[in-house]
Amino acid sequence: MTQPLVRLQGLRKTYNEGLPNAEEVLHGIDLEIAPGEFTALIGPSGSGKSTLLNALGLLESASGGHYELAGRDVTQFDDDERTQARHDVLGFIFQFHHLLPAFTALENVMLPGLMRPKEKGGPEAIQRRAAELLDAVGLADAMGKKPQQLSGGMQQRVAIARALVLGPRLVLADEPTGNLDTHTSDSIFELLRRFNRDFGTALLVVTHDPRLAARCDRIVRLVDGLIASDEPNLAAT
Ligand code: ADP
Repeated sequence: MTQPLVRLQGLRKTYNEGLPNAEEVLHGIDLEIAPGEFTALIGPSGSGKSTLLNALGLLESASGGHYELAGRDVTQFDDDERTQARHDVLGFIFQFHHLLPAFTALENVMLPGLMRPKEKGGPEAIQRRAAELLDAVGLADAMGKKPQQLSGGMQQRVAIARALVLGPRLVLADEPTGNLDTHTSDSIFELLRRFNRDFGTALLVVTHDPRLAARCDRIVRLVDGLIASDEPNLAAT
Protein backbone atom coordinates (compact mmCIF):
# COMPACT_ATOMS: atom_id res chain seq x y z
CA MET A 1 0.00 0.00 0.00
CA THR A 2 1.18 3.55 -0.71
CA GLN A 3 2.40 5.36 2.33
CA PRO A 4 -0.36 7.58 3.71
CA LEU A 5 0.17 11.31 3.56
CA VAL A 6 -1.44 11.69 6.97
CA ARG A 7 -1.60 9.16 9.76
CA LEU A 8 -3.26 10.22 12.99
CA GLN A 9 -3.48 7.84 15.90
CA GLY A 10 -5.46 8.68 19.00
CA LEU A 11 -5.17 12.43 18.45
CA ARG A 12 -6.49 14.44 21.39
CA LYS A 13 -6.87 18.15 21.88
CA THR A 14 -7.71 19.94 25.09
CA TYR A 15 -8.12 23.71 25.15
CA ASN A 16 -7.03 25.60 28.27
CA GLU A 17 -5.10 22.59 29.51
CA GLY A 18 -4.43 22.68 33.25
CA LEU A 19 -6.99 25.45 33.86
CA PRO A 20 -10.40 25.07 35.54
CA ASN A 21 -12.11 25.65 32.18
CA ALA A 22 -10.11 22.93 30.39
CA GLU A 23 -12.16 21.25 27.68
CA GLU A 24 -11.20 18.19 25.67
CA VAL A 25 -12.51 18.79 22.16
CA LEU A 26 -10.93 15.90 20.22
CA HIS A 27 -11.16 12.62 22.08
CA GLY A 28 -8.87 10.33 20.10
CA ILE A 29 -8.96 10.63 16.33
CA ASP A 30 -7.60 7.87 14.09
CA LEU A 31 -7.39 9.01 10.48
CA GLU A 32 -5.34 8.19 7.42
CA ILE A 33 -5.32 10.24 4.23
CA ALA A 34 -3.77 8.80 1.09
CA PRO A 35 -1.95 10.89 -1.54
CA GLY A 36 -4.47 12.39 -3.97
CA GLU A 37 -7.57 11.74 -1.86
CA PHE A 38 -10.35 14.33 -1.98
CA THR A 39 -12.10 14.15 1.39
CA ALA A 40 -14.96 16.14 2.90
CA LEU A 41 -14.95 16.70 6.66
CA ILE A 42 -18.48 17.28 7.88
CA GLY A 43 -20.29 17.38 11.22
CA PRO A 44 -22.36 19.66 13.42
CA SER A 45 -21.06 23.03 14.52
CA GLY A 46 -18.81 22.61 17.55
CA SER A 47 -17.95 18.98 16.74
CA GLY A 48 -14.24 19.84 16.39
CA LYS A 49 -13.74 20.14 12.61
CA SER A 50 -11.70 23.35 12.73
CA THR A 51 -9.71 22.05 15.69
CA LEU A 52 -8.86 18.90 13.74
CA LEU A 53 -7.90 20.93 10.68
CA ASN A 54 -5.66 23.19 12.78
CA ALA A 55 -3.96 20.16 14.32
CA LEU A 56 -3.46 18.58 10.89
CA GLY A 57 -2.12 21.91 9.62
CA LEU A 58 0.40 22.09 12.46
CA LEU A 59 -1.14 25.40 13.43
CA GLU A 60 -1.86 24.14 16.92
CA SER A 61 -0.21 21.39 18.88
CA ALA A 62 -2.18 18.35 19.94
CA SER A 63 -2.52 17.34 23.58
CA GLY A 64 -1.99 13.65 22.95
CA GLY A 65 -1.72 10.98 20.29
CA HIS A 66 0.53 10.56 17.32
CA TYR A 67 0.79 12.38 13.99
CA GLU A 68 2.81 11.38 10.94
CA LEU A 69 2.84 13.76 7.97
CA ALA A 70 4.34 12.61 4.67
CA GLY A 71 6.22 9.83 6.44
CA ARG A 72 7.66 12.04 9.19
CA ASP A 73 6.70 11.88 12.84
CA VAL A 74 5.71 15.50 13.49
CA THR A 75 4.18 14.87 16.93
CA GLN A 76 7.05 16.43 18.88
CA PHE A 77 8.19 19.03 16.34
CA ASP A 78 9.15 22.45 17.69
CA ASP A 79 7.84 25.68 16.12
CA ASP A 80 10.58 25.95 13.48
CA GLU A 81 10.20 22.33 12.41
CA ARG A 82 6.44 22.75 12.21
CA THR A 83 6.80 25.84 10.01
CA GLN A 84 9.19 23.98 7.73
CA ALA A 85 6.90 20.92 7.51
CA ARG A 86 3.93 23.19 6.74
CA HIS A 87 5.80 24.82 3.88
CA ASP A 88 7.06 21.49 2.56
CA VAL A 89 3.76 19.66 2.42
CA LEU A 90 0.68 21.79 3.10
CA GLY A 91 -1.48 24.48 1.57
CA PHE A 92 -4.34 26.31 3.29
CA ILE A 93 -7.61 27.83 2.14
CA PHE A 94 -9.83 29.58 4.67
CA GLN A 95 -13.36 30.94 4.52
CA PHE A 96 -11.97 34.42 4.94
CA HIS A 97 -9.09 34.40 2.56
CA HIS A 98 -6.81 36.87 4.36
CA LEU A 99 -5.44 38.40 1.18
CA LEU A 100 -3.17 41.37 1.84
CA PRO A 101 -5.04 44.48 0.66
CA ALA A 102 -1.96 46.49 -0.32
CA PHE A 103 -0.73 43.83 -2.75
CA THR A 104 -1.96 42.80 -6.18
CA ALA A 105 -3.48 39.40 -6.88
CA LEU A 106 -0.19 38.27 -8.43
CA GLU A 107 1.84 39.46 -5.43
CA ASN A 108 -0.57 37.79 -3.00
CA VAL A 109 -0.15 34.47 -4.80
CA MET A 110 3.63 34.87 -4.91
CA LEU A 111 3.99 35.65 -1.19
CA PRO A 112 4.38 32.11 0.21
CA GLY A 113 7.06 31.43 -2.40
CA LEU A 114 8.93 34.66 -1.73
CA MET A 115 9.48 33.60 1.85
CA ARG A 116 11.65 30.75 0.57
CA PRO A 117 12.83 31.89 -2.87
CA LYS A 118 15.98 29.76 -3.02
CA GLU A 119 14.15 26.46 -2.67
CA LYS A 120 11.53 27.43 -5.19
CA GLY A 121 13.76 28.40 -8.09
CA GLY A 122 14.05 32.13 -7.40
CA PRO A 123 11.59 35.03 -7.66
CA GLU A 124 11.20 34.69 -11.44
CA ALA A 125 10.17 31.04 -11.23
CA ILE A 126 7.74 31.90 -8.44
CA GLN A 127 6.23 34.72 -10.48
CA ARG A 128 5.84 32.41 -13.47
CA ARG A 129 4.13 29.77 -11.37
CA ALA A 130 1.87 32.35 -9.68
CA ALA A 131 0.85 33.73 -13.09
CA GLU A 132 0.13 30.21 -14.40
CA LEU A 133 -2.04 29.47 -11.38
CA LEU A 134 -3.97 32.73 -11.70
CA ASP A 135 -4.53 31.87 -15.33
CA ALA A 136 -5.73 28.40 -14.30
CA VAL A 137 -8.26 29.89 -11.87
CA GLY A 138 -9.59 32.18 -14.60
CA LEU A 139 -7.95 35.40 -13.40
CA ALA A 140 -5.38 36.03 -16.12
CA ASP A 141 -6.81 39.53 -16.61
CA ALA A 142 -6.94 40.41 -12.92
CA MET A 143 -3.34 39.76 -11.89
CA GLY A 144 -2.56 43.45 -11.35
CA LYS A 145 -5.72 44.17 -9.36
CA LYS A 146 -5.87 44.62 -5.60
CA PRO A 147 -8.25 42.43 -3.55
CA GLN A 148 -10.82 45.21 -3.05
CA GLN A 149 -11.22 45.48 -6.83
CA LEU A 150 -12.25 41.80 -6.99
CA SER A 151 -15.53 40.07 -6.12
CA GLY A 152 -15.70 37.62 -3.21
CA GLY A 153 -15.52 34.64 -5.56
CA MET A 154 -12.54 36.11 -7.38
CA GLN A 155 -10.76 36.75 -4.09
CA GLN A 156 -11.31 33.13 -3.10
CA ARG A 157 -9.82 32.06 -6.45
CA VAL A 158 -6.73 34.12 -5.65
CA ALA A 159 -6.56 32.37 -2.26
CA ILE A 160 -6.74 28.98 -3.99
CA ALA A 161 -3.90 29.93 -6.33
CA ARG A 162 -1.90 31.11 -3.30
CA ALA A 163 -2.53 27.79 -1.51
CA LEU A 164 -1.12 25.92 -4.51
CA VAL A 165 1.92 28.04 -5.31
CA LEU A 166 4.39 25.89 -3.36
CA GLY A 167 3.02 22.69 -4.89
CA PRO A 168 1.54 21.23 -1.67
CA ARG A 169 0.73 17.54 -1.42
CA LEU A 170 -2.20 18.24 0.90
CA VAL A 171 -4.51 21.26 0.92
CA LEU A 172 -6.56 21.91 4.05
CA ALA A 173 -9.64 24.00 3.40
CA ASP A 174 -11.92 25.34 6.16
CA GLU A 175 -15.33 26.25 4.72
CA PRO A 176 -13.76 27.59 1.51
CA THR A 177 -17.18 28.43 0.09
CA GLY A 178 -18.79 29.47 3.38
CA ASN A 179 -19.51 33.07 2.41
CA LEU A 180 -20.20 32.58 -1.29
CA ASP A 181 -23.45 32.15 -3.22
CA THR A 182 -24.42 28.75 -4.63
CA HIS A 183 -23.23 29.37 -8.15
CA THR A 184 -19.84 30.73 -7.03
CA SER A 185 -19.47 27.89 -4.50
CA ASP A 186 -20.03 25.36 -7.27
CA SER A 187 -17.38 26.90 -9.47
CA ILE A 188 -14.87 27.09 -6.59
CA PHE A 189 -15.47 23.43 -5.85
CA GLU A 190 -15.08 22.59 -9.51
CA LEU A 191 -11.70 24.29 -9.40
CA LEU A 192 -10.58 22.32 -6.33
CA ARG A 193 -11.67 19.12 -8.06
CA ARG A 194 -9.70 20.06 -11.16
CA PHE A 195 -6.50 20.71 -9.19
CA ASN A 196 -7.04 17.44 -7.36
CA ARG A 197 -7.24 15.58 -10.68
CA ASP A 198 -4.55 17.50 -12.57
CA PHE A 199 -1.89 17.68 -9.86
CA GLY A 200 -2.86 14.74 -7.64
CA THR A 201 -3.14 17.16 -4.72
CA ALA A 202 -4.95 15.63 -1.75
CA LEU A 203 -7.61 17.85 -0.20
CA LEU A 204 -9.42 17.79 3.11
CA VAL A 205 -12.33 20.20 2.92
CA VAL A 206 -14.52 21.21 5.84
CA THR A 207 -17.97 22.02 4.53
CA HIS A 208 -21.49 22.48 5.86
CA ASP A 209 -22.90 22.07 2.40
CA PRO A 210 -24.12 18.49 1.73
CA ARG A 211 -24.17 19.19 -2.02
CA LEU A 212 -20.46 19.93 -1.98
CA ALA A 213 -19.60 17.02 0.34
CA ALA A 214 -21.41 14.77 -2.15
CA ARG A 215 -18.80 15.72 -4.77
CA CYS A 216 -15.86 14.44 -2.69
CA ASP A 217 -14.45 10.90 -2.90
CA ARG A 218 -14.74 10.27 0.80
CA ILE A 219 -16.85 11.73 3.58
CA VAL A 220 -15.61 11.80 7.17
CA ARG A 221 -18.18 12.87 9.76
CA LEU A 222 -17.14 14.20 13.13
CA VAL A 223 -19.57 14.20 16.06
CA ASP A 224 -18.58 15.41 19.55
CA GLY A 225 -14.87 15.16 18.85
CA LEU A 226 -14.89 11.64 17.44
CA ILE A 227 -15.17 10.21 13.94
CA ALA A 228 -18.75 8.97 13.72
CA SER A 229 -18.48 7.71 10.13
CA ASP A 230 -15.87 7.51 7.38
CA GLU A 231 -17.21 6.31 4.03
CA PRO A 232 -16.10 6.30 0.43
CA ASN A 233 -18.51 8.31 -1.69
CA LEU A 234 -19.16 6.31 -4.82
CA ALA A 235 -21.43 9.00 -6.23
CA ALA A 236 -18.63 11.60 -6.34
CA THR A 237 -18.52 13.74 -9.46
P1 ADP B 1 -16.38 23.08 14.43
O1 ADP B 1 -15.28 23.52 13.52
O2 ADP B 1 -16.83 21.68 14.18
O3 ADP B 1 -17.53 24.04 14.51
P2 ADP B 1 -14.49 23.77 16.51
O4 ADP B 1 -13.30 22.93 16.30
O5 ADP B 1 -14.44 25.19 16.06
O6 ADP B 1 -15.76 23.03 15.92
O7 ADP B 1 -14.84 23.80 18.06
C1 ADP B 1 -15.00 22.63 18.86
C2 ADP B 1 -15.12 23.03 20.32
O8 ADP B 1 -13.88 23.60 20.76
C3 ADP B 1 -16.19 24.05 20.61
O9 ADP B 1 -16.82 23.69 21.82
C4 ADP B 1 -15.42 25.33 20.79
O10 ADP B 1 -16.06 26.17 21.70
C5 ADP B 1 -14.09 24.85 21.35
N1 ADP B 1 -12.97 25.72 20.96
C6 ADP B 1 -12.56 25.98 19.69
N2 ADP B 1 -11.49 26.79 19.68
C7 ADP B 1 -11.21 27.07 20.97
C8 ADP B 1 -10.22 27.86 21.64
N3 ADP B 1 -9.28 28.54 20.94
N4 ADP B 1 -10.26 27.91 22.99
C9 ADP B 1 -11.18 27.23 23.69
N5 ADP B 1 -12.14 26.46 23.14
C10 ADP B 1 -12.16 26.38 21.80
